[in-house]
Amino acid sequence: MPDIKRNYLETLEKVREAAAKCGRDPGEVRLIAVSKTKPIEYVREAAEAGAVDFGENRPQELVLKQAEYPDLRWHQIGTLQRNKVRHIVGKCALIHSVDSLPLALEIDKRAKAAGVVQDVLIQVNITGEETKSGVSPDELEGLLCEIKAMENVNPTGLMTISVAGSTPDENRAVFGRLKELVDRFGLKELSMGMTHDYVEAIECGATMVRVGTAIFGARDYGPK
Ligand SMILES: *Cc1c(COP(=O)(O)O)cnc(C)c1O
Repeated sequence: MPDIKRNYLETLEKVREAAAKCGRDPGEVRLIAVSKTKPIEYVREAAEAGAVDFGENRPQELVLKQAEYPDLRWHQIGTLQRNKVRHIVGKCALIHSVDSLPLALEIDKRAKAAGVVQDVLIQVNITGEETKSGVSPDELEGLLCEIKAMENVNPTGLMTISVAGSTPDENRAVFGRLKELVDRFGLKELSMGMTHDYVEAIECGATMVRVGTAIFGARDYGPK
């Protein structure tokens, strides 16, 4: 097992430094420890070091880990299929990856049945890569309008993923675009930045960064 406690604390320190360096309050950037594909012992180590936010991309895995640690805050960060929604509604603090009206409607329905209001982010595909999920910036306003009208879904912000292998300036362009959108629509939360680009994301206004590899080591199975 890697030295998860040390990795977590070092990453947290870097997140705070990056925020302070651009004149932001370090307390306004939440570090989400992305524990997908990693065993529950890894979660325990990070939690003992003080981590409270954890990210998963497979609903089944999120539910199993959430059952072990229900007091931690669980985030669904990966593509979410409609038929998996019922497993996680009410069990995760935030769904980062809403990218269609049918998905949002399903979350509303399941949240209603569970008697909860589910916080969500809309995933935006800034770069237009076809392989990536997320709505285009043009489609955002329409989807946001529909979601705002739903009783049991609360859209708190936006999420994006930058293109793997981009330069820091390319990442800043993508993250800057998402920041403009969040401001334009009066939203608050900005989930952007992973192990290789969280510093630029924080410079551009990220309120949540999703970091896996730097904390838990490389993943050797499962999709990234
Ligand atoms: C896996 C994943 C991450 C974490 O990536 P690292 O490069 O390991 O930090 C962040 N966001 C999403 C959406 C992911 O799927």
